[in-house]
Amino acid sequence: MTDRYAVIGHPISHSKSPQIHAAFARATGQDIAYTAIEAPLDGFAATVRAFREQGGRGANVTLPFKLQACELATDPSEAARLAGAANALRFEPGDRIRAENFDGVGLVNDIQRNLGHALKGRRVLLLGAGGATRGALLPLAQQGPAALAVANRTADKAHALRADFAAHATLQSGGYADLAGERFDVVINATSAGLSGEALPLPGGLFAPGALAYDMVYGKGLTPFLRQAREAGVHALADGVGMLVEQAAEAFAWWRGVRPGTREVIERLSVPLV
Ligand code: NDP
Repeated sequence: MTDRYAVIGHPISHSKSPQIHAAFARATGQDIAYTAIEAPLDGFAATVRAFREQGGRGANVTLPFKLQACELATDPSEAARLAGAANALRFEPGDRIRAENFDGVGLVNDIQRNLGHALKGRRVLLLGAGGATRGALLPLAQQGPAALAVANRTADKAHALRADFAAHATLQSGGYADLAGERFDVVINATSAGLSGEALPLPGGLFAPGALAYDMVYGKGLTPFLRQAREAGVHALADGVGMLVEQAAEAFAWWRGVRPGTREVIERLSVPLV
């Protein structure tokens, strides 16, 4: 029987995950069916249960259920526990549910393998202190950056992250004004500001020569953040499509034991950054 997987979110019609996993299944010869399920806002756990009863083997989880996915799991990984959020579930014998958060490793793989920018020994800045930053911090810290900083509109949330991750990483934290005089090799926008077209109040001189500006948002072309970076003289610009495809590849490998290639799928989903 064909093994079933799904992405569960609300809304879900925009999701590219079914397309990505169908391409992975074709390329690796895996016999799986992967669909998108919109769970009611108050019905995430019931939706997971019903999908499992219908033969589901695992699921991706997207907004707004990533926190609930971590709570629902009987066995969350360290990455998921630290992030307080999961984006992949695997149903195990009995009632066990394993949970993972592959967003951070997807980001790291995209930056290092696909874009060819080292993180080890570099100064790395994350803008934003929401779920995406939480998921990215541990995998970024594990690459050995020279500095890892979090700046957020609400500075207290950045300070709270520094405290939460104190056992795993030495973080700098603050508001955007605290970035004055600082310079970074990799600057990652993990805010949702770009979705509403707003630019961030970034000080001049933030980008080191040869810096990478990375926006986790994808499919929007040149976002306000990427435009700011380009105007500051940055040539290496990337959106989050590679992160999306790389986290999907991690989940696929976790479920199926075979890692698909990502390059073709990234190329197919990329939109020009203009
Ligand atoms: P959250 O809602 O958890 O966090 C939002 C963050 O954005 C907060 O830090 C918030 O600051 C900040 N923010 C929102 N509006 C503004 C603004 N106008 N000016 C300055 N800061 C602002 O979102 P997530 O962390 O889950 O997601 C962040 C982004 O990352 C989204 O665009 C999402 O689509 C993208 N993403 C991409 C992925 C991929 O695979 N490519 C995976 C996961 C996320 P404050 O705390 O002050 O409110």
